[in-house]
Amino acid sequence: MKAVFVTEFGGVEKLRYEDLPKPAPGDGQALVRIKASGVNFIDIYFRTGLYPAPPPVVLGMEAAGVVESVAAGVTTVKPGDRVAYAMARGSYAEYAAVPAWQLVKLPDAIDFETGAASMLQGMTAHYLTHSTYPLKPGETCLVHAAAGGAGQWIVAAAKLRGARVIGTTSTREKAEAARKAGCDEVILYTEDDFEYQTKKLTGGRGVDVVYDSVGAATWDKSLNSLRPRGMMVTFGNASGAVPPFPPLTLNQKGSLFLTRPTLAHYCANREELEGRARDVFHWLESGRFKLHIDKVYKLAGAGEAQTALASRRTTGKLLLVP
Ligand code: NDP
Repeated sequence: MKAVFVTEFGGVEKLRYEDLPKPAPGDGQALVRIKASGVNFIDIYFRTGLYPAPPPVVLGMEAAGVVESVAAGVTTVKPGDRVAYAMARGSYAEYAAVPAWQLVKLPDAIDFETGAASMLQGMTAHYLTHSTYPLKPGETCLVHAAAGGAGQWIVAAAKLRGARVIGTTSTREKAEAARKAGCDEVILYTEDDFEYQTKKLTGGRGVDVVYDSVGAATWDKSLNSLRPRGMMVTFGNASGAVPPFPPLTLNQKGSLFLTRPTLAHYCANREELEGRARDVFHWLESGRFKLHIDKVYKLAGAGEAQTALASRRTTGKLLLVP
């Protein structure tokens, strides 16, 4: 089968689009014939080695497809089922062997591209707004990169919780996309000081929570944008990883709370996974979330897709199809 993988960490030039043996489903696994694979920033971290894994590292953490076969004893899915999943690596390929418990069945109304575009970022938005910091009506959150793949989902999920949403984007076009996703206010953080503007928009108080996927570049000002005892949720490294810092800073800036979560720990068992996936599918089917697919690339074009994502040229979701 064709797959996109790296044997050495580095830039997109290290990506190899070549044949690898078709995997066989191991214990508890199902073999999925992939119809569409989501492109996520985490794929770049695995390519560069920021998140290390033993080579060959087949990239991709999200897909939708059809179950081709299952290992003995697997009963939750069967050959022919239409399924989707996130957080099992190896989806930049024609086939992937995936732990069967991580597969959810796609509702009839949801096509493969929509399924592959929604699992990772949709469920991330769900856990951030419902579990990590469960937003209450009337609270205010700050969402960085609000026009991005994860960003648009977080904005919409926060609005569904009844929160006021302040988003940041780098361009006016992206600001428009962030408003369409539901932002009440958008700050162009490449032109304006977002800390100053956030304080101004909250009457000097600061926001209840910051959902920060940008990392190093926004870290200090994000902390400064919080109200006393607010929560800093740093969940990504798009601009680089946040450097080590002294916990005393949290005291000095207002007894702040800090967490660095990941989706895998918030879909820790079948019940949690099914609950989040059900809500995400419901948001799509009911029109509460309007998915924006920026571009669909061929699997061989994975490098082009990652380059676009890393260079801030994209809005919404990128997909690969075999
Ligand atoms: P996006 O579509 O959000 O793309 C990244 C965006 O980040 C860019 O479009 C850009 O928006 C912004 N950005 C700011 N600075 C930079 C920079 N120096 N280089 C590149 N981009 C920058 O990607 P994803 O939705 O795939 O992921 C967003 C983030 O969320 C990633 O950090 C990812 O790791 C994280 N994530 C974490 C999860 C978790 O559970 N912990 C799960 C899912 C995603 P703009 O141009 O508007 O600044």
